[in-house]
Amino acid sequence: MTERLSSTDAYLRACDASVLAVTDAGVVLDRTVFYARGGGQPGDTGVLRWDGGEAAVADTVTSRESGDVVHVLADGATPPPVGAAATAEVDWERRHRLMRTHTALHALSGVIFTGHGAKVTGGNMGDDGSARMDFELDAMSQELGREVEEELNARLAEDRPVHVRFLPRAEALADPDLIRTKVSLIPESVDPIRVIDIDGIDKQADGGTHVASTAEVGTVRVVKTESKGKANKRMRIRLEEP
Ligand SMILES: [Zn+2]
Repeated sequence: MTERLSSTDAYLRACDASVLAVTDAGVVLDRTVFYARGGGQPGDTGVLRWDGGEAAVADTVTSRESGDVVHVLADGATPPPVGAAATAEVDWERRHRLMRTHTALHALSGVIFTGHGAKVTGGNMGDDGSARMDFELDAMSQELGREVEEELNARLAEDRPVHVRFLPRAEALADPDLIRTKVSLIPESVDPIRVIDIDGIDKQADGGTHVASTAEVGTVRVVKTESKGKANKRMRIRLEEP
């Protein structure tokens, strides 16, 4: 199965690899720095290069059949030959923005839980620095949005480290913070469990890519608050460009 280098080092922009397979879906490498779409985070884009050619990657997904990472090529791109040595390079500007956005969402969920006792019911992010998150809140208002924005930015500015940990399943299932974020729903075959721990702000099982410290997120604006029904309230956020 494809070795997912971004799982342990989100800051790797490129790697050398071998082409294992080429299918209608895309190109499978033995290892890659590309993040495959999942957990609300879009798949990476970028480029594959090999002796005599290159191909733009328009998306990255996980194969349902094999669990491999599939690099989905842009329309009309010619894939590399199977067995070729290739270099895989992500569109770093886009990916880094996604890392900042993803860490911002985790910090937001921590701030809402700590300040308002509300759990997350859903979320999603775009590649343009925008994202949304839904909470089990009874009420939502612009005023609450402003309050949360202020608290969120104050916590981010504390420059707290963001740790990537791999916890034995039994240990993860006994952790109160992880129980709150429904770690028990993760398939039993997953052991150890990957955990993103934003020091003192939020801790949850997660497969995504994150920045190394909260200051790197920068400033976040709560741009919209909406009610999506009883006990389901939405916040839309946007990163300010540094
Ligand atoms: Zn996440």
